[in-house]
Amino acid sequence: MILTHEHEELRRSLRRFVETEIDPFADAWEEAEIFPAHDLFRKAGAAGFLGICKPVEYGGLGLDYSYALVAAEEWGRALAGGVATALGVQTDMATPALAKHGSDALRREFLAPAISGEMVAAIGVSEEGAGSDVASIRTRATRDGDDYVINGSKMWITNGTQADWICLLANTSDGQPHRNKSLIIVPLKSKGVSVARKLKKLGLHASDTAQLFFDNVRVPVRNRIGEEGRGFIYQMEQFQEERLYAAAKAVSMLETAIAITVEYTQGRKAFGKPLIDMQTIQHRIAAMHAEVEALRAITWSAADIYVAGGDVTEKASIAKYLAGKLALEIPNACLQFWGGQGYMWESRISRIMRDIRLTAIGGGANEIMLQVIAKQMGLSSAGGRKAAPAQ
Ligand SMILES: Cc1cc2nc3c(=O)[nH]c(=O)nc-3n(C[C@H](O)[C@H](O)[C@H](O)COP(=O)(O)OP(=O)(O)OC[C@H]3O[C@@H](n4cnc5c(N)ncnc54)[C@H](O)[C@@H]3O)c2cc1C
Repeated sequence: MILTHEHEELRRSLRRFVETEIDPFADAWEEAEIFPAHDLFRKAGAAGFLGICKPVEYGGLGLDYSYALVAAEEWGRALAGGVATALGVQTDMATPALAKHGSDALRREFLAPAISGEMVAAIGVSEEGAGSDVASIRTRATRDGDDYVINGSKMWITNGTQADWICLLANTSDGQPHRNKSLIIVPLKSKGVSVARKLKKLGLHASDTAQLFFDNVRVPVRNRIGEEGRGFIYQMEQFQEERLYAAAKAVSMLETAIAITVEYTQGRKAFGKPLIDMQTIQHRIAAMHAEVEALRAITWSAADIYVAGGDVTEKASIAKYLAGKLALEIPNACLQFWGGQGYMWESRISRIMRDIRLTAIGGGANEIMLQVIAKQMGLSSAGGRKAAPAQ
């Protein structure tokens, strides 16, 4: 990926938006454990940030995915990681399949307002009993005339208490688990939808996460994205953007962790000199910097494949895996150099460590990424290269 003047312009506008519309309120939103999604998304939508690579006819900017990746990096610099996660759900997790496979009517009704920021979106894949093993979800959408009647529940849903609609993965028949699912847009004001509870989390406090129940919820069949029975495949495609977004966001969060640690260790003295003058600290920081550069390189090269229309499964999984691995290692190592101050709740490094922890779990845990990579490599005795997707 080579950044052009246009990429840099977009980066500058996003950075200004983060500094003026998110950062001044980040602490208050963290404290409140929610941010005003409609308010912020309307502003982000008006600036064009919610539809960077979405079609122009639905209000998007029609740019290629490399621009969305720049946006993911910039959202990752926000002082509240939860807001960056919520924005990513809107742009890269709940809407890619709708943009690619939805009917024109469905896109006008749900995609256009998600791009303008009038509507907040959520993605509903995980359930209490099925996270990594997506094929085993239980939520069901049964055909009744021109409607689906939906029963089941979804767990850990980002934007769950504020969203206007959810892109829901549900079983629409009994067949094989990879061929019996559909993605359906469900308005969350529908009769029978309830927010069971807002969940308390380790980090990402500014983002609301909820468990949702669906009790005989009726939605028209025309709310289905694309063909019936292809939901699992569409979701696997949609995961690629989610994973690229997570990797790009991790790059800037890790860069921030390193930058603030350099600053802290320059100012903090021990044994008569600044901590940064200890060679072991310099070496560790240099090594972390090298690792983040490697993560950026693999993420950008995955984006190149995606922009060119190639199969990005292996590269996106490698990027997401590396992001998850470094998310476990780097903020933890940085916090160590902050000493007691790093252990304080209010220190920025401790917030980054809490916020970035999800990278190794959400949208395909590290182990699932390794499973996908192993399958792509054809490592099992059963399969050649590019075997069926694990997730
Ligand atoms: C804050 C937050 C926000 C989220 N937002 C959303 C959302 O908006 N929409 C949504 O649908 N989901 C969301 N999720 C859910 C998230 O995607 C899942 O938690 C994730 O996919 C892991 O699923 P699980 O929690 O059921 O873990 P499990 O499937 O129970 O796995 C637990 C652990 O077991 C290990 N493991 C699992 N399978 C294997 C294997 N095959 N080999 C080796 N080890 C394995 C991994 O370490 C894994 O972390 C969110 C989660 C959180 C915490």
